[in-house]
Amino acid sequence: MNARLSILVIEDDKAICSFITAALNGNGYRTVAAFTGREGLSLAASLCPDVVLLDLGLPDVDGHEVLQKLRCWSRIPIIVISARTEEQEKVRTLDMGADDYITKPFGTAELMARIRTSLRHSSGNFPETVYKTLNLEIHFDKRTVRLNGELVHLTQIEYQLLTLLAKNSGRVLTYNFIMKNIWGPYTDNNNQILRVNMANIRRKIEQNPAQPQYVFTEVGIGYRMRENDDFTPP
Ligand code: CA
Repeated sequence: MNARLSILVIEDDKAICSFITAALNGNGYRTVAAFTGREGLSLAASLCPDVVLLDLGLPDVDGHEVLQKLRCWSRIPIIVISARTEEQEKVRTLDMGADDYITKPFGTAELMARIRTSLRHSSGNFPETVYKTLNLEIHFDKRTVRLNGELVHLTQIEYQLLTLLAKNSGRVLTYNFIMKNIWGPYTDNNNQILRVNMANIRRKIEQNPAQPQYVFTEVGIGYRMRENDDFTPP
């Protein structure tokens, strides 16, 4: 783990905050804690951390406002820590520019995995050319998808959809984000076409489409593709 990476934790609950910072320190990250939204915003600007963990329920400003303000000037990965489990709340947070969310209570392993995923996507240092995990292999430059070594035949839309998810593997993409990316900004909000295409993809790549191991459904929110194993730096 790179000890120079720093993480800003904006969380007013001191017990949770110290649990998080202890876990992060134990994994080699530097941490800075802020207990209010205003403090968090000013520390984000002065320290330029590598990742921000943001609690939505803050005493002074709403977490969404903090998120919005950060997004005005920064592409820093922001992972929202939320006690709120409503799907609409998560969708709103993601569509406002959060990279991911994690719902309380959560364990250290889950938190570390989310941070690694965010860091990997924000680094941009290793443009991915291959997605590889379990028995699935996608070569983005060759535009090929193989399952157990055999070519999988996908339609143009199915391929675009699968590669969008694969290039963002490990993070959840909202239905809205996917629809706009694949079918354009003026598409309506009917997800039916997306569901049909996803069912077709699953039939082609999943052993049991009802229990997927590559593309997971986050009910009411979107899809998350299994983390790419093939991302060791060259
Ligand atoms: Ca709180």
